[in-house]
Amino acid sequence: MSTRPSIRVPTRPTNSDGDGNAIANKILASLPTKESKEVLPRLEFVRLVLHQVIHEAGEKVKSGFFINSGLASVLAVQPDGKSVEVGLIGSEGFVGLPLLVGYHTSPTRIVVQGEGAAYRCDGEALRLLMERCPELERQLHRFAQQLAMQSMQIAACNRLHDVEERLARWILMSRDRMGSDTLPLTQEFLSNMLGTRRSSVTVAAGTLQKAGLISYTRGSVRVLDLQKLEGAACACYGIVQRQLKDWEAEKN
Ligand SMILES: [Zn+2]
Repeated sequence: MSTRPSIRVPTRPTNSDGDGNAIANKILASLPTKESKEVLPRLEFVRLVLHQVIHEAGEKVKSGFFINSGLASVLAVQPDGKSVEVGLIGSEGFVGLPLLVGYHTSPTRIVVQGEGAAYRCDGEALRLLMERCPELERQLHRFAQQLAMQSMQIAACNRLHDVEERLARWILMSRDRMGSDTLPLTQEFLSNMLGTRRSSVTVAAGTLQKAGLISYTRGSVRVLDLQKLEGAACACYGIVQRQLKDWEAEKN
């Protein structure tokens, strides 16, 4: 048998899904080529429409979504219909975490808060992929830990900090995950996010606007002074950012 030169297997991440869509989701983009080739054919590129419910509380979780652009919000829903945001997921993450460990229900509602797109994966396909793709499995479990940490901090934030600090914290977290200084936003939706009355949100947004930190118009908010906005936010923003940074440095 003649010896032939070995074929070099490229290890850099795939940055396109073959249909011309750029892969911006950090989990998918970080996979080695070998795993990308397994994973990508099993994904469906789907649009995320503003205020679309990706998962309803209590309903069966059938699919997972690798967020490629836009922003998803995790809401804790009460029996009287009230809700409050307990997590934010952008292109760093994944919606459908119960599937990672074979669960198919969740008490939280996941809503699209910033329009974008995602890669949808059927729950059963995901289970098989995780068995075959150790890096995918590791990345998904890491993200589950990141979201749990974020949610714990937001739980403390919702109890301890006033609406103006929380609004600044929320804008900063959303901005980071959307990768944009302009966020689509209505007062009604924001009052659901922060679990507070619309009038309180209006006052808080007005205060931040008067101080020149943001501009706030019907349906959107724009960050004008990032440094000052960080100063106006409670410590929760920095705590979450620092922990994510520390974990990033700990990765091997
Ligand atoms: Zn806080």
